[in-house]
Amino acid sequence: MRILVVEDEKEFCQTIEEGLRIDGFEVDTCYDGEDAWELIWVEKFDLIILDLNLPGMDGMEVLHKIRKENLEVNVLVLSARGQVKGRVEGLDAGANDYLCKPFAFEELSSRVRCMTRRRFVQNNIVLASGELSLNPKTRIAYAKGCELFLTRKEIGILEYLMLHPESVIGQEELIQRVWDGSVDSFSNSIRVHISDLRKKLRGALGYDPITNRVGQGYLIGGKKYD
Ligand code: CA
Repeated sequence: MRILVVEDEKEFCQTIEEGLRIDGFEVDTCYDGEDAWELIWVEKFDLIILDLNLPGMDGMEVLHKIRKENLEVNVLVLSARGQVKGRVEGLDAGANDYLCKPFAFEELSSRVRCMTRRRFVQNNIVLASGELSLNPKTRIAYAKGCELFLTRKEIGILEYLMLHPESVIGQEELIQRVWDGSVDSFSNSIRVHISDLRKKLRGALGYDPITNRVGQGYLIGGKKYD
C-alpha cells in the first residue's frame, strides 16, 4: 500500500510519515500543492492524505483536479478544527474521509487502515492463499500456521500478490505499488527481494507458491495448489 502525505508543516508531515511506516505502509511526502499534483499525476498511490491549507496550490484544488481526472485513489482530507465549511466542501469535492486537526496519530492510523482495507481487502481482514495467510494489520504472514520472518519489502510484495490472486503482476506494477520514491526502484532490487521471498516460502512450505511468467510478471495461487 502506497500513501502520499501532503502537508506543509514539515515536522508534522514527518511524524505522520514515520507512524505510517511503522504501520507497514510505503509513504511518500510532499510539502506543496503543486508538487503534490505532479506526483499524483505520474505515480500511483492507494491513498492521499491531503492538508487543505497548502502553498502552491491549495488542497481543495488538488482534490478537484484528482476527481476531475477521475484518478482512482482514496483521499483523506486534513483540516483545522471547526472549519465546518471546509469539511462539507471537502466531502462534496470527493474526499473519502475527513479528519480535523489536532488529532491523535492512532485516529489517523485507524482511518487509514479502514480506508485501505475497504478498497483492497473488503471485509477479509486476513488474506489467505493456499497454506499461506497474511494479516495486513499486524504485517505478519504465516505458512501452515507458522509465522514467517519477512522483511518489510517481502511482506509488501506478498501482500500485493495475495490481494490479486491468480493475476499476473508485472515488475513495474510491483515497483509502483510496493516501493516508495525514496528507495531505488531498479528492477534488480525488486528481483532480489522477490527471490529472497520465494526462498523463504519454499523453505516453509516445501514448494514455491509464486510462479514467474517470463516477460510478464509474478502470480500467486492457481495451479500450484491443485
Ligand atoms: Ca497546512
